[in-house]
Amino acid sequence: MNNRFEIIIVGGGVVGTALACALARTGLSIALLEPQPPQPPSDPMDLRVSALSVASQHLLANLGAWANISAQRCHPYSEMRVWDGAGEIHFDSAELGYAQLGWIAENRAVHYALWQCASAQANIRLLSPAQLVGLTTASDGSLRVDLDDGQRLRGQLVVGADGSRSKVRQCAGITTVERDYHQHALVTTVRTEQPHADTAWQRFLPSGPLAFLPLADGQCSIVWSHHSEQTQVLAELDDLTLGQQLTEASAERLGEVRVTGTRATFPLRMQHAQRYVQPGIVLVGDAAHTVHPLAGQGVNLGLLDVAALAEVLGQAVSRHRPLAALPTLRRYERWRRGENQLMLHAMDTIQRLFDTQLPPLAWLRTRGLSVTDHLTPIKQVLVRQAMGLNGTLPELARAPNPHASV
Ligand SMILES: Cc1cc2nc3c(=O)[nH]c(=O)nc-3n(C[C@H](O)[C@H](O)[C@H](O)COP(=O)(O)OP(=O)(O)OC[C@H]3O[C@@H](n4cnc5c(N)ncnc54)[C@H](O)[C@@H]3O)c2cc1C
Repeated sequence: MNNRFEIIIVGGGVVGTALACALARTGLSIALLEPQPPQPPSDPMDLRVSALSVASQHLLANLGAWANISAQRCHPYSEMRVWDGAGEIHFDSAELGYAQLGWIAENRAVHYALWQCASAQANIRLLSPAQLVGLTTASDGSLRVDLDDGQRLRGQLVVGADGSRSKVRQCAGITTVERDYHQHALVTTVRTEQPHADTAWQRFLPSGPLAFLPLADGQCSIVWSHHSEQTQVLAELDDLTLGQQLTEASAERLGEVRVTGTRATFPLRMQHAQRYVQPGIVLVGDAAHTVHPLAGQGVNLGLLDVAALAEVLGQAVSRHRPLAALPTLRRYERWRRGENQLMLHAMDTIQRLFDTQLPPLAWLRTRGLSVTDHLTPIKQVLVRQAMGLNGTLPELARAPNPHASV
């Protein structure tokens, strides 16, 4: 078996698999390593869902994965309501000139659709199950990747798409800036007395945000961020009591809440790699940045990394420039690190602002929500940011050209 590749992508989650698909058209030889290949969607629906931005939908459509995703567990939402004790802001796609604000999609459906696209490409080798255990630079400058089954691969460029605890990042000695929120998110599925009205609902409580994300079958996915010990207590409640807690915490905006799904909890932290690149190595997605889920931006930022990196590497190929050289990779880093930093910083600031009960700040926050609600131009900017449409958009994240041949 040929163990030499031009690009080795470590981590075939949503971001790594999307990158393999995006690079397929360059004709480069690509290996994608993943310890846990995705399973096709099945009943019951998986607990994990993501709010996908319009830019992410464009990318998934450009990669040929969207038709499969939208045919499965994926639901557009056209409104968003965010409130704390007293202030509220309401975003309505029709009022702001858009067909929808985004989609709530089952992670497994997105992952599986991308995996199918990758497996149809002749220049992508899916190595799964396979896990990177070591990464070193060979004397000729290529990268040596050691796998858990004893195999050794060689690549010109290794991409770390292996999530927040990235082994690639660790082997490369790239450090991170971190903030532990001492919070966990409780995730479950519920049925509400009132219809969700295709609206993403989020209440900022003193203990953390509580989101109700609208699903295609009329249920809602819950993401409830809370102090870690309290999340554990909530996770162990029986369905009836947890439902009562959710009804109360949501101020009965959707009436009575009934828990229908299992539960899972996730630790929350902000983390940002000090560098995204070094010769022969590049980081994308959660390996480069992890963000509080309060605005549902993590995978959306990762997919923008994918689109930008694919564009930079595609240009290097067509201009016969070395793929793995720093000047090539730095173009990607300059493009994405600043934009991600802004989003991480914004999420961190919002998290701190809503975490406080100091009277002047709490007043400012409530006033801020209510005042901003009347400022349509500011709401336009906020919505475009959440839709992933601000900043310099890579080609793959723009609306697909209906006349282009895929
Ligand atoms: C509660 C919660 C809600 C969220 N909601 C949203 C949302 O609504 N919208 C949104 O955009 N984001 C959301 N996020 C964030 C989003 O889930 C992540 O940003 C996203 O999953 C990151 O994708 P990734 O592919 O970079 O990393 P991961 O999903 O972590 O994938 C990494 C992959 O690498 C593999 N891997 C790990 N180590 C190795 C190794 N040594 N060798 C080979 N492979 C390896 C793993 O098996 C995995 O498949 C949420 C997060 C949480 C916790």
